[in-house]
Amino acid sequence: MKKTKNEMKLIFPSLSENERLARIAVGGFISAENPTVAELNELKTAVSEAVTNCIVHAYRDTVGLIELTARLSDGGVYIKIRDKGCGIEDVERAMEPLYTTLADEERSGLGFSVMESFTDSVSVKSRLGIGTTVVMKKKLRSRI
Ligand code: ATP
Ligand code: MG
Repeated sequence: MKKTKNEMKLIFPSLSENERLARIAVGGFISAENPTVAELNELKTAVSEAVTNCIVHAYRDTVGLIELTARLSDGGVYIKIRDKGCGIEDVERAMEPLYTTLADEERSGLGFSVMESFTDSVSVKSRLGIGTTVVMKKKLRSRI
């Protein structure tokens, strides 16, 4: 049977309550795939880390728009989370486990590590003053 290529886009302001919105939206989006509990929780957690980063880092002390794209494709799900916030000076360094620029606010620097362990690939493109785009791909049992 041919698999459908569903897609959605959601744009919302960087308010902390929208972290929950993003989790629920992505969970709802893949629900037609009958994901396993692990697939669902892992994907929601990875999305939540990326969205939280937009809220606390990209738009720190301001509010801006976050764009979330989700697409089902052969093999799994593609997720893109984009902000037009401050950008990351050194992406490679930012992705190192325990690296954080907000240590005094009890950030542990593990967000990117969580995204990497809960999905199959994470790529980050960022430009200072322009913004950051995080793309994650996760295989889904139903699509393989
Ligand atoms: P934790 O996620 O454990 O609460 P953290 O957010 O600092 O802590 P990561 O999510 O791994 O850790 O991010 C590492 C660093 O990368 C952040 O401290 C921040 O400096 C930078 N960063 C991450 N995402 C963004 C973003 N969207 N815009 C600007 N800077 C970002
Ligand atoms: Mg984080």
